[in-house]
Amino acid sequence: MTSMTASRAADLVAALLFVLSLAGLSRHRTSRAGVVYGIVGMALALAATVVASAQSVSAGPVALILLATVIGAAAGLWRARRVEMTQMPELIAVLHSFVGLAAVLVGWNSYLEVEAHGSRGRIAAELIRIHHAEVFIGVFIGAVTFTGSVVAYLKLSARIKSRPLMLPGKNALNLGALALFVVLTVWFTVSPGLPLMVAVTVLALALGWHLVASIGGGDMPVVVSMLNSYSGWAAAAAGFLLDNNLLIVTGALVGSSGAYLSYIMCQAMNRSFLSVIAGGFGIEAPPGGDDEQGEHREIRAHEAAELLARARSVVITPGYGMAVAQAQHPVAELTRRLRERGVEVRFGVHPVAGRLPGHMNVLLAEAKVPYDIVLEMDEINDDFADTSVVLVIGANDTVNPSATEDPASPIAGMPVLRVWEAEQVVVFKRSMASGYAGVQNPLFFRENSSMLFGDAKQSVEEILRALGPDTGREPAAPERGVTAAR
Ligand code: NDP
Repeated sequence: MTSMTASRAADLVAALLFVLSLAGLSRHRTSRAGVVYGIVGMALALAATVVASAQSVSAGPVALILLATVIGAAAGLWRARRVEMTQMPELIAVLHSFVGLAAVLVGWNSYLEVEAHGSRGRIAAELIRIHHAEVFIGVFIGAVTFTGSVVAYLKLSARIKSRPLMLPGKNALNLGALALFVVLTVWFTVSPGLPLMVAVTVLALALGWHLVASIGGGDMPVVVSMLNSYSGWAAAAAGFLLDNNLLIVTGALVGSSGAYLSYIMCQAMNRSFLSVIAGGFGIEAPPGGDDEQGEHREIRAHEAAELLARARSVVITPGYGMAVAQAQHPVAELTRRLRERGVEVRFGVHPVAGRLPGHMNVLLAEAKVPYDIVLEMDEINDDFADTSVVLVIGANDTVNPSATEDPASPIAGMPVLRVWEAEQVVVFKRSMASGYAGVQNPLFFRENSSMLFGDAKQSVEEILRALGPDTGREPAAPERGVTAAR
């Protein structure tokens, strides 16, 4: 077997491993295996690329590829080891921007190469127009992904406000940019030239920026998965230009799975998929989000402990603040202690709680909270009315009643956890500040709500202390209707 055939075979195996990886990542129990398949597939893909390059270029460029691989891998390892779980979405946004930038550079390189040396027989004369179109489309998708991801990074890391940018005629601007792109593509395939390349690059950079800047905080989860999808298509476009089948297959896998994830998230948030990918089409800017709406009540940790000790059933709804405070371990301990006392404890996880799909599930699994008491929003929503106490730990937008009660709210229509239907709600946060979407939360001013101010981890630890010494017993099987000593 020649080394070229071996590298083609390795490409095929790597592509299959990526498919297995995606399948593995779709379930808790198989996710570790999914990660391992992904690592092995990527290592194989890199090795195959180096071997394939060694066939066609001299030792110097191969050494450069190896050097770039080592530097990239070292930087990746360093960042991945240091990154906090709460910074994960930002990191992913930055990584997407690299894929976009790479697609732009590959496109430009391919254009300049053909301009300088002709296609050197690599591209048949009758296919040269298709090559021009590939270059143009690749640069466009890559540049949109690049600036879109940069804006997503700036919003997710709170370096710029998450509120939607509302330029006058923003929908016309987006549609106009797309129409211009189509015209420029036709023009470029007929008569390619440097000014057109510059024009499409600038147009796509501006469009990517505008598309994501126009999307409000509440829709950012969809944007993150949408950019994931775009980065896949950008990689696939680069694969066509580099004549690399593995890149085409991998890009298509990422592109289609990201698009499907965006679609699922839109359904979960009752958002129109098309309106979100079109840059928040029809979404109005939120009115002054931080205005308070009445009086709130405060509760101390020892009072919350008394409430919990008397409770029959407790539901914990975690949110981004639990990740910031790293409160998952004391929360898991509180769960164990309450279950020991015969209190039924369950978790209600909103599909977009935190800053990453599955963010809360990862934290709860890390703290070894049993899977069977972690329920999804639809599974728990009807049970709140029959719940003694809800602990809202660092969640805000995902428990905001205005989503269901105020049609003028920027998050109107987004399904939320109906925590306010419970007998008592205790909200753990540090201040009265609004959540990620920048919308004030009427839950905080309800009769049955109390605010437990402070860092969520410290507050839960104080409750644990107030609950008294740990008996160390195994949790009793939760019994519905255990009598509350009221
Ligand atoms: P939010 O982001 O709405 O609110 C989090 C709350 O946590 C804040 O109100 C904050 O209040 C509080 N908080 C922060 N730090 C601490 C701390 N140390 N201790 C206690 N409280 C703390 O959270 P949700 O999870 O409810 O909603 C997620 C939001 O993020 C949604 O709008 C969603 O659309 C968006 N999003 C989700 C993504 C995803 O894929 N899941 C991706 C991108 C965005 P205070 O400052 O007063 O403490």
